[in-house]
Amino acid sequence: MVSRVIPVDPFDLVLFGGTGDLARRKILPGLFHRFAVGQMPQDARIICTARSAMDRAAFIELTRSSLLKFASAAKENSSALESFLQTIDYVQVDAAGQDGWDALSKALRPDMVRAFYLSVSPSLFGPIAHKLNNHGIATPQSRIVVEKPFGHDLESAKALNADLRGNFEEHQIYRIDHYLGKETVQNLMALRFANSLWEPLWNSTHVDHVQITVAESLGVEGRGEYYDRSGAMRDMVQNHLMQLLCLTAMEPPSRFTPDAVRDEKVKVIEALEPVDQSDIVRGQYRAQGEEGSYHDHSGNPQSRTESFVAIKVNIGNWRWAGTPFYLRTGKKLRARSSEIAIVFRDPPHMIFPKMEGRRGNAMIIRLQPDEGITLRNTIKEPGPGGFRLTEVSMDMTFADALDQHAEPQDAYERLIMDVIRGDQTLFMRGDEVEAAWAWADPLIEGWQDAGRTPAPYDPGGSGPEDALMLLHREGRRWREIMA
Ligand code: NAP
Repeated sequence: MVSRVIPVDPFDLVLFGGTGDLARRKILPGLFHRFAVGQMPQDARIICTARSAMDRAAFIELTRSSLLKFASAAKENSSALESFLQTIDYVQVDAAGQDGWDALSKALRPDMVRAFYLSVSPSLFGPIAHKLNNHGIATPQSRIVVEKPFGHDLESAKALNADLRGNFEEHQIYRIDHYLGKETVQNLMALRFANSLWEPLWNSTHVDHVQITVAESLGVEGRGEYYDRSGAMRDMVQNHLMQLLCLTAMEPPSRFTPDAVRDEKVKVIEALEPVDQSDIVRGQYRAQGEEGSYHDHSGNPQSRTESFVAIKVNIGNWRWAGTPFYLRTGKKLRARSSEIAIVFRDPPHMIFPKMEGRRGNAMIIRLQPDEGITLRNTIKEPGPGGFRLTEVSMDMTFADALDQHAEPQDAYERLIMDVIRGDQTLFMRGDEVEAAWAWADPLIEGWQDAGRTPAPYDPGGSGPEDALMLLHREGRRWREIMA
């Protein structure tokens, strides 16, 4: 099956931080892919900006080398690469000062959708939003796109929202959480709300518990200093895992519109019950020798920042009371693997002999490495010799089921095109971000007040022993982290 590409209208995209890591690795390659498949029109323009003094030719060369490195299709399709480079311009702008704003204003075309992508430090979000407004560059049809982190806590998130809303309307603000651009995450909505099979089972009567795991095999090397000020809770749970929890737990929206969907997500966050400190496990990887420990990678030998966190979360509403959600994320774990596992309750009365090691029915929604859905069923073990049970998986890898073995679309590609189309469904609303911080802040303050150090864990495993106990003590167990 070939996926349908619906072209977007021409636009001017201003990419602040055009020379930066994210722009070169993700945003420009994402735009190139959309261009190569015909979704981005030839007369769209990408105006990259940064402080570095550079002319257009030098920037084009930089972009060419980034695309050849990070966009596999660029090597195979040189004519598309050359045409795409024609759409790119470079304007030197000091986001914190006065230089370059008039030149930027002149580089933009009137009567065109304008999108301002802020791929820069969050400390520049407010100043850039203000200058775009002050210089008359922002129009009522403009959109502004910001990258996480959306604040460090509730107070800073409110300040950031106030800065953005002081210059743009909420319907113009696109807060990117790239997890929402993943096909499987979007499929969670299709699976739940376009089928009648699952919804009757999607509640505490039938679901024993939910496990959400985002495991990474890499450590914090290279981003140690930033990470040490953040930790797994701020870097992953407050945003990515919270989004996965919301999409799993939310009520069916009345319509598939941005605000109807986001209203339901906010209701889930507001229904989260306070978390007891005994339901949180924090860990830090410790390795001897060359591999290095978190302390080496963060450059902070005294650090108490967690590189792993596991939390039991209860949702206080009619659908989920009595069904805990277990969240787990960490660095330097066995594999890079993300999934949501919906684990169903056992049948009320079992007529067959007890099966050793039976885990029961589960739906596993895999986000990475290969996106897909697995259903774990209990069946009769084949052959004579009595009636024994065994468990099998009904496996649907999207690439196989949909015959899409081409390179999967990156989350950024999808999200940037949604910005151009003006569709905010997959972007976080300001109140959603604030509600997530209002939930996360007391947890973080709680462990800071307690002064506990994170539990050490070996790289290449599944986190600290205490995290296993979080489920074991309730007769449950985590799914193995597997590549
Ligand atoms: P980066 O590599 O440090 O790039 C920062 C960019 O900002 C550079 O192009 C830099 O160019 C420009 N810049 C800095 N100060 C400026 C100023 N005063 N005026 C104009 N331009 C300025 O950062 P990054 O890793 O790309 O991250 C960008 C944003 O994305 C950050 O908010 C980050 O938290 C977020 N993010 C990044 C990733 C990732 O994988 N990298 C993932 C998620 C979120 P000059 O030095 O030439 O000015």
